[in-house]
Amino acid sequence: MNSRQSPTLKAASAETRAETDALFNSIGDGAIATDEFGRITRVNPVALQILGYKASELVGEWFPRKVIAMSEEGQPINLIDRPITKAFLTGKTVFQKMFYQRKNGQPVPVSISVSPILLKGRPLGAIEVFRDITLEEEIDRMKSDFISLAAHQLRTPLSSIKTYSHMLQDGYMGDITAEQKRSLTTIIGAADRMNELMSMLLNITRIESGTIALNSKQVDIYRLTEDVMREVGLLAAERGVHMQLEKQGKTPTGLRTDSLLLKEIITNLVTNAIKYTPPKGEVIISVRGRRNDVLVSVSDNGWGIPKYAQDQVFSKFFRANNITKRETTGTGLGLYMVKGLLEELGGKIWFITEEGQGTTFFCSIPRKITTSPVNINKTM
Ligand code: ADP
Repeated sequence: MNSRQSPTLKAASAETRAETDALFNSIGDGAIATDEFGRITRVNPVALQILGYKASELVGEWFPRKVIAMSEEGQPINLIDRPITKAFLTGKTVFQKMFYQRKNGQPVPVSISVSPILLKGRPLGAIEVFRDITLEEEIDRMKSDFISLAAHQLRTPLSSIKTYSHMLQDGYMGDITAEQKRSLTTIIGAADRMNELMSMLLNITRIESGTIALNSKQVDIYRLTEDVMREVGLLAAERGVHMQLEKQGKTPTGLRTDSLLLKEIITNLVTNAIKYTPPKGEVIISVRGRRNDVLVSVSDNGWGIPKYAQDQVFSKFFRANNITKRETTGTGLGLYMVKGLLEELGGKIWFITEEGQGTTFFCSIPRKITTSPVNINKTM
């Protein structure tokens, strides 16, 4: 066909090709283009540098086979989970973080975006742009280390503040007035909140850095739930909220999981239910043993979650505006942490809600800790 082109047309298309090449090669991140079958058609110099290949070793090869993608644990990522496959299947741009294997076998963390190339709605191929994020990962790790060190170090002076406040309040250092007693109660409450905040920060850094240590043992879920209810009982009483435990079906036996993490999860959900329910409200915690999991639900008849906020509540720092106008204290970290912890146990969380009517959070806790599915966005 080319041979039939006029010399002027030939020159024009050669020029267009040269321009496209120059454009492609000037992209500051790694770029790989494929045809509609996923075969590599172009690779820019940055991609070659990141992956350690020569262009001749990549062009013409089937992209998913030649460029190996791995999870943080070094497991190859299934074809169906590769961003290029998702981009082809959905026709949309897909963003993902994962590891690529360099030619010398070394893993390199990358942040990827893949878009299908469409011409009049027909897929012509895909274009992937990716960056080496080794440095960002390192900075992230240092940030996590810093937070965890700071939280640990702050705990010791905080526990002195609490111990001495309790001693003062209990009269070990002489009589105190009612007003002084009230002030000490406020100090102790503030120290407790700080402690909770620090353990939340510690948990989050551990989840994000994938360093959470799991301790699996037999758990009596009724007892654990009753412990939680006892511990948040004062808050419920202060808020005039009534709590109730519903044991559904047969007593769940054979639950082996991490009791501390599970307690943290349920405590957070019950605390939220109490905090986000007006006085005289009702919080129902229900426990049901099922074949492979235990289902715990925390239900309230409180303010609910507005529609706009429903897909954001598990995001870091998110708080819905129907809540922020009523409750100024809060960080928006609780549910982010709860979801992360539950995933560590191999469980799931979801909710139903209606603004002004109430909310129910459901947690499915597997009877045995299952290794959580590879979640690159979480681990990196
Ligand atoms: P925080 O409670 O510190 O605001 P969370 O991460 O625990 O942070 O919750 C995030 C947001 O989700 C809350 O600010 C609130 O908007 C919403 N939310 C969580 N639980 C409930 C609930 N039981 N009822 C209504 N809104 C809730």
